[in-house]
Amino acid sequence: MTVTIYFDNSATTPLDPRVAEAMRPWLSEAFGNPSSLHALGRRARDAVEAARAEVAALIGATPQEIIFVASGTEANNLALIGAFETASAGQRRLIVSAIEHPAVLETARALEARGAEVVRAPVDADGLVDPQWIRARLTPSTRLVSIMAANNVIGTVQPLADIAAIVEASGALFHSDAVQAIGKIPIDVEKLPTDLLSLSAHKLHGPKGVGALFVREGVKLAPIVHGGGQERGLRSATENVAGIVGLGRAAEIAREEMAADNARLVALRERLVAGVFAACPRVYLIGHRERRLPGHVCLGFAGQEGEAIRLMLALDEADVAVSTGSACSSSHAAEPSYVLQALGFDAFRARGALRLTLGRFNTEREVDRVVEILPGLVGGLRRIATARN
Ligand code: PLP
Repeated sequence: MTVTIYFDNSATTPLDPRVAEAMRPWLSEAFGNPSSLHALGRRARDAVEAARAEVAALIGATPQEIIFVASGTEANNLALIGAFETASAGQRRLIVSAIEHPAVLETARALEARGAEVVRAPVDADGLVDPQWIRARLTPSTRLVSIMAANNVIGTVQPLADIAAIVEASGALFHSDAVQAIGKIPIDVEKLPTDLLSLSAHKLHGPKGVGALFVREGVKLAPIVHGGGQERGLRSATENVAGIVGLGRAAEIAREEMAADNARLVALRERLVAGVFAACPRVYLIGHRERRLPGHVCLGFAGQEGEAIRLMLALDEADVAVSTGSACSSSHAAEPSYVLQALGFDAFRARGALRLTLGRFNTEREVDRVVEILPGLVGGLRRIATARN
């Protein structure tokens, strides 16, 4: 079997073997329910609480401020819906950015149908939200502002500290979907005045199907899942012990290795960008040049934007896994991306991003291999397109 070069770490990351090892006992002999009072149950409870402390340590929170949930999507739903259910009369406004993940945008739309007034903040050509635009839209009726830490399609990192400080001063709540940022860039809620923050284990070399919501002490949320009252009543259900242990271990590794990983990934990213730019004519980088996730490259090929899917498939044939935008929208892969349209791309150009996202296990050799084969594939598609026209 040929080994796939996996450059799709924004869709999901491979499980770190150290995480798999930490999870193993909790999938076999250590099967207790953390709510049980006997020894097996107490052992599981201790493991869940140790993981909670690790997740808290990664972001500068206290363990009580971490609520385990089943995904980044659920964390976002709990943040938005939970905040609206506890809003006082008249607090109807919700501000989100136009490039949020569907887990925020669709939740906002569902709240709109229930009477919320949703304001969608535009972004500039690099994908940045303007903090002053947000400031001008904050009213006494604003319950929540939700702005992602980093975008999953283009990799742009938002000026979160500025936005959070402005929202804090207004008295509204601030939430950030930090699913793409956690474990890759430092986020410290001791310094960042955010009330709520979402993360997901499978984006930081942890398992799928487990995430967490940071809920700052004193912030009132209503649950969206009702039942036995686990997770301080905010998320009923028997805890996914193995998944939570995996998230805890992934958080611990990220805390210890983030600085080194980050530097290595920035170097790999720059090597990839420089190599592709030297070899491919009319290529352009999408997203902010510097304010971007360390391993995130999003490319457009001028005149060939409609061929991004073909390029992705040609790379797949060559055992290189990349994506054309967001894996979350693979069923709409040939449609224009709303994220690129928000950057000002027309419908044609908005179909054309090639996203290559690097992670902990990628190497220089893999980057060099992709730099070697990509120009030929792009050139091949150009010739086909020219012959067709
Ligand atoms: N938010 C962002 C920015 C994401 O990139 C993703 C996943 O792609 C999610 C939320 C959803 O996370 P999950 O897959 O854990 O539901």
